Amino acid sequence: MSQAKPNPKIVSFKSQKEGISQALIQKLLEKGKNYGLNAIFPFSIDKIKVAQWVQLKCRYGCNRYNTNWCCPPATPEPDKVRAVLSEYSVALLLVGSTNCADFYLDNSRKRANQVRCWKGSVSLERLLFLEGYYKAFSLVGECCALCKTCAYPQECRFPQEKRPSIESFSIDAIGTLRNLGVSPRVANHKNDSYSYYGIILLE
Ligand code: SF4
Repeated sequence: MSQAKPNPKIVSFKSQKEGISQALIQKLLEKGKNYGLNAIFPFSIDKIKVAQWVQLKCRYGCNRYNTNWCCPPATPEPDKVRAVLSEYSVALLLVGSTNCADFYLDNSRKRANQVRCWKGSVSLERLLFLEGYYKAFSLVGECCALCKTCAYPQECRFPQEKRPSIESFSIDAIGTLRNLGVSPRVANHKNDSYSYYGIILLE
């Protein structure tokens, strides 16, 4: 009697010990390039810096506060975030760069960039799920701009795409980048190119 051959199309769910292969990172990067990403790095979750002050910046001084499902107060408080992160050990840093003189403006070109970045993170998260990383969850750069005006506090129009932003998760993005050996600087000229980041919590 012949033995049943393993079906290569069946992907098993990953366990924490398996990590992520260079081949899969390359596959993610190939897909990510369609969304402007140019690098993806795996890193240990303990490099993520969560700080109370981050929500102060959201609460005081940001016109998105209380206007978007992906921003405070609709997103978890720092203590809850720490509890969530304690259930992960590895994350991916997604890096893109753009030259957008509209960074500080609120116009359609700026929004198109935001949407591209948003869709890139969510689409890589889906690819990771299909590769067996069932806990994969994206934290996206800036805030959700999929709708010109967020439906908040009415129901989200695209709940499958809805994710918290990095900042709304009380993550000190600069402190986290420094922990990863990156030295970010301020883009203070209109024609400077700048980097943007996403994080995918992995396992
Ligand atoms: S998809 Fe639309 S309604 Fe939902 S959070 Fe994003 S902007 Fe708001």
